[in-house]
Amino acid sequence: MSILNDQVHDVALSQDEDFRPWQMIEAQHLICAYQSNKLPHALILTGPLGVSKQHFAEQLAFFLLCSSPDAGRACGRCKSCLLSLAGNHPDWTNIGPEEAHKVIRVDTIRMIHQRLQQTSQQGGNKVCIICPAENMNENAANALLKVLEEPPADTYFLLVVHQVSKILPTILSRAQRVSFALPSANSIFDWLKSDFNQVDIEHAIEQARGFPERVKSMLLESDEVQFDYDTLIELMLGKRSGYDFAAKLDQRGATSFLDALLVLFARQSAANLTESSEELASLDAISEQQRHEIYALAINAKQAIAQNANLRLLIETFLQDCTSFFQTSHD
Ligand SMILES: [Zn+2]
Repeated sequence: MSILNDQVHDVALSQDEDFRPWQMIEAQHLICAYQSNKLPHALILTGPLGVSKQHFAEQLAFFLLCSSPDAGRACGRCKSCLLSLAGNHPDWTNIGPEEAHKVIRVDTIRMIHQRLQQTSQQGGNKVCIICPAENMNENAANALLKVLEEPPADTYFLLVVHQVSKILPTILSRAQRVSFALPSANSIFDWLKSDFNQVDIEHAIEQARGFPERVKSMLLESDEVQFDYDTLIELMLGKRSGYDFAAKLDQRGATSFLDALLVLFARQSAANLTESSEELASLDAISEQQRHEIYALAINAKQAIAQNANLRLLIETFLQDCTSFFQTSHD
């Protein structure tokens, strides 16, 4: 992928990804058109923000640059594919604004145009993704229009557009429009079900109002909720404010916290903790009986969370109870 000023961003492609399940019809259609030499040199991929249009553009670029596509997909093994996967393909250019609300300038489009006049470096197609294309200012849009009027050979422009009304009608008339709608909750569920559990997916779909990319990032973010053992013990000892800690937790975070704590206690009682620290040593200060009681409190708290209890109060009270166990152990 080319680096042009500060307006070009890299994309990390993952080899085992494909078009999203709800994009298969559009993908099939465009790939068939390409195979019969009928793919237009400019596509406008449009639809609301968060319906995987950019992902679609990247997958299509990956396919268009592959030197030996296999059953309508990039092979993932040829030199071109390896360059794409590494984010280093010299014939793949991404253009985007420096920051979300900034414009794409005319200089960038001119520079791209110059570069695309040259023959491709890998001997195949050249692809330029512009995302979001509505961020081109008027001069940039007019410069692009000129390029589209006489497109360089073997070059495909993939314009990702969230608001099609902001695109010059003259550009619209020179490109084929592919529209994406919000997929059904079932499609999103099918897409994510092998990586996440059912309840979490359903919850995220609701929270993200059905926008698939947001659903996935929410699930990935919540997977990252982790608590190191020292933090857990400092909380139980009252060395950290349970009040502040509890304020930051949502339902998933609170459940993860209690799960982490249960794991800690399970490991501690099995005497198989490999880590050792001053904080962990404090667990030895409480009796086996007290440990069981904390364990039981954590289980009860988890059940209460599932019944929509007041999270902040619940976690704070739980931590106060824990602290009092540790304090009595020193008396
Ligand atoms: Zn390939």
